[in-house]
Amino acid sequence: MPDRVDVVVVGAGPVGCALSLLLGTRGRSVLLLERHPGPYPLPRAVHFDDETARILQACGLGKDLPALSEPATTYEWRNGEGVPLLRFEMPAQGRQGWPSANMFNQPDLEARLFDRVKAAENLSLLWDHAAVDIGQDGDGAWVEIEPAEGGARQRVNAEYVVGCDGANSTVRDLLGVSFEDRGFFFDWLVVDVALHQPRVFDPPNLQVCDPRRPTTVVSGGPGRRRWEFMCLPGETLETLDEEAAAWAFLEPWDVRSDNATMVRHAGYRFRARWATRWHEGRIFLAGDAAHQTPPFAGQGMCAGLRDATNLAWKLDYALGHPQAAAILETYDSERIPQAAAVIEIATELGRVICIPDADEARARDEQMAPFVPPGGSTPAPPMPGISGGILTETALSGELFIQATVRAGAVEGRLDDVVGTGWHLVTSGQPPELDGELATWFESIGGRFVPLGTTVEDLEGRYGRWFADHAVTAVLERPDFAIYGTAPTDRDVTTLVAQLRDQLEAQQVSPVVS
Ligand SMILES: Cc1cc2nc3c(=O)[nH]c(=O)nc-3n(C[C@H](O)[C@H](O)[C@H](O)COP(=O)(O)OP(=O)(O)OC[C@H]3O[C@@H](n4cnc5c(N)ncnc54)[C@H](O)[C@@H]3O)c2cc1C
Repeated sequence: MPDRVDVVVVGAGPVGCALSLLLGTRGRSVLLLERHPGPYPLPRAVHFDDETARILQACGLGKDLPALSEPATTYEWRNGEGVPLLRFEMPAQGRQGWPSANMFNQPDLEARLFDRVKAAENLSLLWDHAAVDIGQDGDGAWVEIEPAEGGARQRVNAEYVVGCDGANSTVRDLLGVSFEDRGFFFDWLVVDVALHQPRVFDPPNLQVCDPRRPTTVVSGGPGRRRWEFMCLPGETLETLDEEAAAWAFLEPWDVRSDNATMVRHAGYRFRARWATRWHEGRIFLAGDAAHQTPPFAGQGMCAGLRDATNLAWKLDYALGHPQAAAILETYDSERIPQAAAVIEIATELGRVICIPDADEARARDEQMAPFVPPGGSTPAPPMPGISGGILTETALSGELFIQATVRAGAVEGRLDDVVGTGWHLVTSGQPPELDGELATWFESIGGRFVPLGTTVEDLEGRYGRWFADHAVTAVLERPDFAIYGTAPTDRDVTTLVAQLRDQLEAQQVSPVVS
């Protein structure tokens, strides 16, 4: 075990693994700590979006994703009589170069993440050890580690510590951070099943808004199905969370022990809350440690991976420019409002579903009737952008840019695979010459020039259409795929890059150390 690293990451769930990999690819040394002796075997998340897919691509999993997941293109909600209330359509080709909705099995994804972590030279993964104390001073931060079986504690020093240690986070408790809690919670029984024979479910992803038993029936990734059953008033999870009860719930769906294997059944209570502060000096929170959401938008892990990708490039910048470490303040100002907005969306969806009262359900159905044109559909609610951080003030700043297929020389594929990840200055045509010093500075922060129509070919024409639709000639894309700013004409490109340099160099205040 190293005694000093750049970053200690506490908790090897998907968020801790992704953050470690994103730091590792930037050459940073990381100790990833996990209190369990090995990977957590039980499925939880079943959906990720195209932005998450692009983050996983940046973690090196791009080639694995097609086998690990299957696209979902519809998600239908019906009332107790089977009448459609909502039908979401999700494009098979999302804006980030991946299907906009992907169904998967979380342990399979985590296994691939662990493979990547183990293969990375500058990452150390320590199983079976829990973080039990943390602290910081002017020189850095430290974590005290204890073997799960007990024994001597050891201290590891680092520049930064990130608690990715889940909903019951030790790091959050030690920091004494409180929650903003929406007070919206329900108990559900989750049942994961592997069917012995392939079967077509129509619709493939269904929300049954039946007050007699609100139920979720969705893909659980290739070869698997997920059912979730709401615990009704007067019931307890203890009685519901029994194997016999789980099989009885599955019976109406023609799923029995002779045609399926139950992978697991588990009761859980979802919450709608977020930590009011996501960092204190050099110690940060990410993933479920920082926020927990109702599952109806399939966004808990996705939000956590957004934390990882936002924090990774900022930690990397702060490590390389300690005098400009105030950039880390923008982690809270950018991420908290966005995560809160996503939780609000999921809560609103949950308020439609979690209705166990027949009269209330009838009133809901009447209110929702206008949303169901026969055979029609509703676009899935868009995820909010970010604001309040490293951005310009143009209309598109903080929205996600796009990723499309390009060719550079003999290499063809998604943009990040062809030109690499990091800051992208994407221009339609040859970019105007930046003055030598500015170009060198841009490259020093990992900036890459993407001159479309010259050395980089826009194979699907998607970038060209995007530029035309938004009447711009260049986009400066951040390493987490958010638009830093746009240039309406070639003349504005130098100003855009210079603006970024000025803004990053202005982050002069050191983090507060308590
Ligand atoms: C039923 C269900 C359905 C869901 N569906 C979706 C979905 O469809 N889409 C989606 O995006 N999300 C979904 N989620 C949420 C998703 O599973 C979580 O958001 C995600 O697992 C959080 O990842 P994490 O890495 O932040 O935390 P975790 O996965 O909880 O990992 C935290 C890790 O930290 C370790 N740890 C804790 N304390 C310590 C310590 N002191 N020292 C060392 N290690 C420690 C833990 O052992 C654990 O391994 C769902 C969740 C549930 C329960």
